[in-house]
Parts: sequence; structure tokens; C-alpha cells
Amino acid sequence: MAASSNSSLSGSSVSSDPEDYQPPIWKSYLYQLQQEAPRPKRITCPQEMESRPKYYGREFHGLISREQADELLAGTEGAYLIRESQRQPGTYTLALRFGGQTLNYRLFYDGKHFVGEKRFESVHDLVTDGLITLYIETKAAEYIAKMTTNPIYQHLGYTSLLRDKITHRLNRTRSEPKKVTFQQDEKISPSPLSRRTTLKDGPEKHCNYEKIHNFKVHTFRGPHWCEYCANFMWGLIAQGVRCSDCGLNVHKQCSKLVPSDCQPDLRRIKKVFSCDLTTLVKAHNTPRPMVLDMCIREIEHRGLKSEGLYRVSGFTEHIEDVRLSFDRDGEKADISANIYPDINIIAGALKLYLRDLPIPVITYDVYSRFIQAAKITDPDSRLEAVHDGLLQLPPAHYETLRYLMTHLKRVTMYEKDNYMNSENLGIVFGPTLMRPPDLNTLTTLNDMRYQKLIVQLLIEHEDILF
Ligand SMILES: [Zn+2]
Ligand SMILES: [Zn+2]
Repeated sequence: MAASSNSSLSGSSVSSDPEDYQPPIWKSYLYQLQQEAPRPKRITCPQEMESRPKYYGREFHGLISREQADELLAGTEGAYLIRESQRQPGTYTLALRFGGQTLNYRLFYDGKHFVGEKRFESVHDLVTDGLITLYIETKAAEYIAKMTTNPIYQHLGYTSLLRDKITHRLNRTRSEPKKVTFQQDEKISPSPLSRRTTLKDGPEKHCNYEKIHNFKVHTFRGPHWCEYCANFMWGLIAQGVRCSDCGLNVHKQCSKLVPSDCQPDLRRIKKVFSCDLTTLVKAHNTPRPMVLDMCIREIEHRGLKSEGLYRVSGFTEHIEDVRLSFDRDGEKADISANIYPDINIIAGALKLYLRDLPIPVITYDVYSRFIQAAKITDPDSRLEAVHDGLLQLPPAHYETLRYLMTHLKRVTMYEKDNYMNSENLGIVFGPTLMRPPDLNTLTTLNDMRYQKLIVQLLIEHEDILF
């Protein structure tokens, strides 16, 4: 059964041409097994037990021995009861008949019932799920071990197999260029001091960012099939995992094999601020977070000469207002001078955006590398160490940093008007772009001057980001 199911699929091929789209062949073997699994049979206690906890029903038999429990279950597959442990009174054991023997599980309750990871509303549900799992994993152990070897996922080359999702994607691919093209932004007024009149295009490799899926354990209502291996997702609850960014549904074991090609669905990304950087740019199909582009555009247009730019703070309530409008309207947010005449509001919103990122622009992974680099005294070796660190950044983070540093460099070119040099900006942006992975107050204080140094160095040598 298992073999035939597998081979029927490996022979199928799905063309990339949308007209030839074939719906996947969902494999029903595990579904059939779930239907065959023994059903729970509650063995009730004839007398009322005084010691019965209120969260158990008549399946509770009090202090009886293993042997007595065994007898009561009478060799019936799926029969179960609860007994109090003789060795450890006050703890409870679920005795369950399966595969011709009595299995004993330590049973817990904390508002929900559980013996392992999964938590259930009722003991009956726990037993139903347990029997399905035991039955499928005993009967189809070999099949399950091999089920990921012929994924249908790669044939389609996309995160999702459900037809509507596919159609949605194909429509989008048709109407939009596949790769993000970096457009020269004409709205940035050319600066006479700038060596570059507009921000330069980044290398193309920065457009196709990889993004890992954001899998979370999920309970599916009704039967569901894995979109990676096409097999049924068995069990009563927590049958698999779902990506909360793109909606991909897979087995827990399959989730480890799915490539990092998550294409977040805009409908699932509810916020702009506090959203993971790569997730946001993938969802909006932009090389950098649009907050960055839009705020920088405003600042370069009307704020470069503003005294204390990025140091003087704008009204917190107004900054909060900008955040809300980005969260609500995305790229349609109006942050023009008509609404926010004070440029410090826009500068404040940009800093808030960077500070609120769940993973900072200079990621936790490479944080200590940069701190170590900052401690090097020889300028050339230090710059080299920083450069090495930059190469470890995820592409979307790298591109964000590159764009921001080019902008900050331009800010320093108006120092005689705005009194902001690379050191001042380093103080402001150091802790905004870099946060230690462990929030130890002492480390944070110690690291601040190194964070400043790194940002100062990046502004002065923004060329190393190109
Ligand atoms: Zn995903
Ligand atoms: Zn699977």
C-alpha cells in the first residue's frame, strides 16, 4: 500500500506553465488508517469514588492496582480508565488497551489534560488522539519515515499547493516583474555636496531574499493534507504546523525540510512596525522596508538642514500617529509636510521603526562580531573586521543598512547647518541598529560606545557597503 502510494506520485510531473497546472494527488493511506484506528471505550467505575478529582468523570477508579486495571479493561482495544497511583498517591495514571497490551501513562491536568506535548479539553479527546497516533505510527512507521522522500512541494516550486493560492500567485507573477527592480528615486533632490546625486542601486543578489517560514503548531478543523509530502495530517489536535506568514500547512517533520522560500501574504501581515524586516520586504516586494524609503525621502526633501536632525525629538504622540498610519495604510501612509510639518516627527518615526524591529538591523547573530571589531585599535584591521561582519547579515538587513548609511552620510554633509556629524549620529543610531542578544544592563552600558563607534565608522566609510 505504502509503496504504490509513493510511486504513483513520483511519476507525476507538474509543469511550471500555469495552463498545465495539475492539482496535487493527495495521498489517502494515512487518512484511511485514521478511520480504522480503534475508538475509545470508557470503562466506568460502578461506585462513586470520594477521592475523584472534579476534572475526572466515572472513568476514575481510585486506588486500584495495575493488575486490577488490566482485568477491568478486559483486553478490549481502545478501553481506558484512570486510576490513582499506588506508589505515588495524588498522581494519576491513564491505563489504555492498545496492540494487545495495557499501556500506562502518567496523566496531568493544568486546566487541560495531557500525557505529552499536546493538551486536550477532555480525557476522551486525549484518548481518541492517542489511539489514532499509536495506530498510525505503529502500522505505518516505515511509510512515515519515507513519506518526505518524494515531496510534491518541489514539483510545484512554491509554498502552497492549494489551487486558490497557486492561482493567486500566478496572477501576481504575471502582472508584476518577477524580480524587484531598484528604481532611481527622482523625488530626492540632488545635493550639490553629494558625490552621488541619488542612492545607488544595490547589487541584484539583494532582491531575491530567502525567508524561512514561521511555523507554529496548529489544530486543523476537519481533515487536512500536508502541502509538502501530500500525506494526511493525522490526529485530533495539533496535527501539524502552519506558517503564520504565508499559510503553508505541513507535518511537523516535513517543516524541517521545506525550503526557505516563504512568500508572506499581505493579508496575514497585519503590521508594518514590529514586523520582521525580511518578512515585510518580501510581503511588499520591495528591496527595503518602505518606511525607510518614505521617511528618508521626506527628510532629504525638507529636513537636511534642520538643526539637531535625529537628535531633537518630535512629539511622542505625533510619532505614534505616524506609526499607526504606516500600520494601517502601508505605502499609502501620508507623511507629507501638510500633515507633519515638523521633520523631527518623521526622523523620530524612522528611529522608532528601526528600534521596534524584532531582530535589529545588525542582527543578534553578528552582534558580538561587530563589538569585537570595534575593539580593534588598528584602523585598517578594524575596517576589515567590520566588512567581514557585514557579509554575515541577511540580504534585506544589509540593503537596509546600506541605504541608511548613504543617507546619514548625506546628513553629515550639512553639518554646518544641522550640527550633526558622524559621531553624533553614531550616538543616536548605535543602540537603534545594534542590540545585544542578552538584555543584561551592564553589557548594554558597556557596549554603547562600541555601538556608536561602529555606526560612526559605517557612516564615514559607507563605501564598504557597496
Ligand atoms: Zn511561510
Ligand atoms: Zn508532510
